[in-house]
Amino acid sequence: RPVLIEVNNLEVRFPIRKKKLFGSDIQELRAVDDVSFTIKRGETVGLVGESGSGKTTVGRAILRAIDPTSGEVIFHTPKEDTDLANIGGEDLRKFRQHMNMVFSEGPVRLSSMAADRLRLFRSKMSLVFQDPYSSLNPRMTVRDIIAEPLVASGMMTDRAAIDERVRDIAERCKLNLEHLRRFPHAFSGGQRQRICIARALVSRPDFVVCDESVSALDVSIQAEIVNLLKDLQDEMGVAFLFIAHDLSVVAQMSHRVAVMYVGKFAEYAPTEKLFFSPKHPYTYALLSAVPRADPDAAFNPIKLQGEIPNPLDAPTGCRFSTRCPYATERCSANVPEWREIERDHFVACHYAEDFNFTRPKSQN
Ligand code: SF4
Repeated sequence: RPVLIEVNNLEVRFPIRKKKLFGSDIQELRAVDDVSFTIKRGETVGLVGESGSGKTTVGRAILRAIDPTSGEVIFHTPKEDTDLANIGGEDLRKFRQHMNMVFSEGPVRLSSMAADRLRLFRSKMSLVFQDPYSSLNPRMTVRDIIAEPLVASGMMTDRAAIDERVRDIAERCKLNLEHLRRFPHAFSGGQRQRICIARALVSRPDFVVCDESVSALDVSIQAEIVNLLKDLQDEMGVAFLFIAHDLSVVAQMSHRVAVMYVGKFAEYAPTEKLFFSPKHPYTYALLSAVPRADPDAAFNPIKLQGEIPNPLDAPTGCRFSTRCPYATERCSANVPEWREIERDHFVACHYAEDFNFTRPKSQN
């Protein structure tokens, strides 16, 4: 599969005002620190980590909902490659306006937009939020909510064509004609999330960020939504960045998985490899916490001690060194390099090759 999104050395820093006894100090929070990875066309990349690890910030920086401080986010299309992290001026204003239009309550009229570049992007990227309750406008019918990205962007103007497109995506998302006439309050959480997915996919984007999109749902509904996303991916070839804190959901959904810790990637590998032969102690610690079907199988779990460090006061060297049972002096002195230890398997640990963590295949 060709690469769709290429993230190189992405950094996002936020200035934070820290109160002191007299006055205040401005400190810099490194929410995302030197992150590099790729997402291929039609694949799902899972992004996991504890809350505060920076995973949501990565998703939003790729969509330019927030500004990267440095680095590149190259969006590859058959026609051209564009560095989204470094577009500016009018292009950025319009691109942002479009992203807000898709996700916020009020439609933003964009019909005057003429930039070719914008025309390309506005149908290519999208996002599904965690909370299906607050992300739908209660005053709009489901038909209008789903049609909103097409109408407000001026991407389609013919009402009959819009209706046909809406019906097509609604059907794929298991919504019928009667559903399209109703308002969001008439639906359950799972149904609302299907409406959000239909809205995100109606413009047939190449790339969608799903930010904790199933976390607020019951387990049985979660499975339904995961299966729906997989079916839509097979039918439409869309790539997903699937952000979640629940490793078992990520495993069901993703072709490759990245693990994030305090603003940095710890490991990135094909799902099977990451789950059954991880090379970073933090990945193994997260896997150790997933309930197992056969607790008797040979398995030496690592128990995570303490809390995730405050990113404003991140440890020197390896950020996991304060909680890692294998940490040495080298770990707190030197930042481990992000390197490919075998094909498609990236890790940031000085001793990755020495570890032989295994996890019995029967546990899931
Ligand atoms: Fe642990 Fe050191 Fe590897 Fe960091 S570099 S994960 S502290 S062994």
